[in-house]
Amino acid sequence: MIVTLKANAPLEAVEFVVEQAKRFPGVTPRVHRFDGQGGCVVEVHLIGDTQKVPDALFAGLPAVRRVVRVSHKYRVIGRHGRGDAEVGFSYNGLRFDESGVVLCAGLCAVDTPEHVEQMMSALSGLGLTCTRMGAYKPRTSPYDFQGLGRECLPWVFESAGRHGVRVIAMEVCDARQMDEIFAALEMTGNPTGVMLQIGTRNAQNFELLKAVGQQGELPVLIKRGMGITLEESLNAVEYVAAEGQPNIVFCLRGVKSHLGDPHRNLVDFAHVPVLRAQTRLPVCVDPSHSVGRMRVVPDGLPEIFHAAGQGVLAGASMVLVDFHPDPHKALCDGPQALTMEYLPRLVEYLRRVRDCYEGILASEVPLRPENRRDLL
Ligand code: PEP
Ligand code: MN
Repeated sequence: MIVTLKANAPLEAVEFVVEQAKRFPGVTPRVHRFDGQGGCVVEVHLIGDTQKVPDALFAGLPAVRRVVRVSHKYRVIGRHGRGDAEVGFSYNGLRFDESGVVLCAGLCAVDTPEHVEQMMSALSGLGLTCTRMGAYKPRTSPYDFQGLGRECLPWVFESAGRHGVRVIAMEVCDARQMDEIFAALEMTGNPTGVMLQIGTRNAQNFELLKAVGQQGELPVLIKRGMGITLEESLNAVEYVAAEGQPNIVFCLRGVKSHLGDPHRNLVDFAHVPVLRAQTRLPVCVDPSHSVGRMRVVPDGLPEIFHAAGQGVLAGASMVLVDFHPDPHKALCDGPQALTMEYLPRLVEYLRRVRDCYEGILASEVPLRPENRRDLL
């Protein structure tokens, strides 16, 4: 059972719901806070046997917005049929929700201070405030470049700060790396923010997921597992949320199958609307790791643009893309990196696709479900 309080409900109201819930043997109340656009929304989750708890006990309270009985699955991240469930969160001055598209373009792997500087400066030139920078790289072969690790964190963070970049998506493969990130942020005076990324290879590393969930501070970007079902990936996300960190973006990045050839992975962006219906997570698409190569097709656009566009047209609200000033020198995933001249083009392309999507939603043309029969 989930008792949702109205935005900015007083603390006493939350406490009252918790106390009432505690009166029922076998029921444990758990408080979750969501950072909605209209203010903080508190949900009290009643875990355990709630059969004897009457809805009316909470439904009539002035501070309560609604009471729902939920299935065990996706307890925190699930939408549970609520069209108006809070989606997204704010972090370090940026909003991650469905009201727009955040472009998160950057280096797959940090290599030199010069390349980081070039990337940050290109971003700031276009007013972009989010990037990706891999310091810890989970590589398939132990002989491949494993990332510069903590050594690069101070200069990466300082460069971001100088260029007004506020959020860096950075993968962690081990809980100790989070401590290194916290230490480097503190040492450099928090010039930027970090979104902890869980890569596809760690999608079911439950101890890492729990550790990421327990640190209450940094938001999390979780990639879909490359060889597991969507349901299994969402259960993995629930591990993070259940530990107390609901500020999560879920990222589709393609699934492993030779049927995706010649792409690196089979692009799975048709799952964007599925995720938006089942969960309240903002959805990210990663066309770089899906398509896996930089090829321009006869219409003049890279395949990566086309894949990104498919995600945005389906309502994705974040796009993660690999760039590199000199892809031949990249130490990881160079073949899929876009060069800098594509950054303004990608911004313009995504803006137009998003406008197209918003135009469709706002249009008079009867595309919405209530009118669907008119179309058929
Ligand atoms: C990455 O984004 O750098 C990465 C390794 O992606 P994935 O986990 O999707 O392979
Ligand atoms: Mn990569």
